[in-house]
Amino acid sequence: MRVKILGSAAGGGFPQWNCACPNCCALRAGTFKGKARSQTQVAISVDNKNWFLLGASPDLRAQIEATPQLHPRLQPSEDGVRQSPIAGAVLSNADVDHTLGLLLLRELQPLRVHATGSIRRILTEDNSMFAMLQRVPGQVIWTDFTPGTTFPLLNAAGEDSGLRCRALSLGTHYPAYVSSRRQAELTFTEASLGLIVESPTGKRLACMPAAPQIDDALLREFESVDVLLFDGTFWSDDELIRIQGSGQTAQQMGHVSVSSSLVKLAQVRRPRKIYLHINNTNPMLNEASPEYRQVREAGWEIAEDGWQFDL
Ligand SMILES: [Zn+2]
Repeated sequence: MRVKILGSAAGGGFPQWNCACPNCCALRAGTFKGKARSQTQVAISVDNKNWFLLGASPDLRAQIEATPQLHPRLQPSEDGVRQSPIAGAVLSNADVDHTLGLLLLRELQPLRVHATGSIRRILTEDNSMFAMLQRVPGQVIWTDFTPGTTFPLLNAAGEDSGLRCRALSLGTHYPAYVSSRRQAELTFTEASLGLIVESPTGKRLACMPAAPQIDDALLREFESVDVLLFDGTFWSDDELIRIQGSGQTAQQMGHVSVSSSLVKLAQVRRPRKIYLHINNTNPMLNEASPEYRQVREAGWEIAEDGWQFDL
């Protein structure tokens, strides 16, 4: 399985358009020891030809253009000039940062979107703009999955990629735009998921950019994976409150802090451990900071846009 990290920042990206935190200011001034990042997006493939997106970020158009493997190829086939190596997507929540990119893929390209029934209903029944994905029969095919069960990643035609996916229920909060009336009809275990993807050779990737807590069951899962992409959103629980003067804690936003996960995941030895979904306020983005050094010395990597690895 080939894994590409097309984007590695949390919502808003780095720098964020309306942010004057020390990181964003230094990056704009050209004095920052660290890299700009687009919003989190992962793509996976077994054959380097057919790709599945984990989520669909608001930066997806630029991320596709920056990634030659995702460019359409002129083929002497019935497909004509309009085609894409992107076979489908798997959604793990209904956040704007995680789903807006689907609207960028609206040019009548057949795709399959794997999602929980609750996430599908929020997008297709409550957000009429997503009807742009249903203009012709077979344009976007939604396929429901249930947390805890293993399902195959299929392309729009129903062909099996060989990849297997299992979603773990990690959080019970739906995005703020989902009405309380709708929330009352939804299944709360389908709100926010972590994904375990298995290749035909049995190699496993865990992708969990939003993990509110780390329990024993999750620790056992991590001991069976080869690469762990984990929530690197905030360094500390009160990071946003200290920088903005108000707001929510990391925990309230559904994220365990890096300073906490560094301790809790120290015992996890098997996988390559990579922090992903890093908020622009996180001090570990600064490669001259003690936080960056602490993370690296603990054996973790900090994802950057454009990274690729095989497992
Ligand atoms: Zn900032």
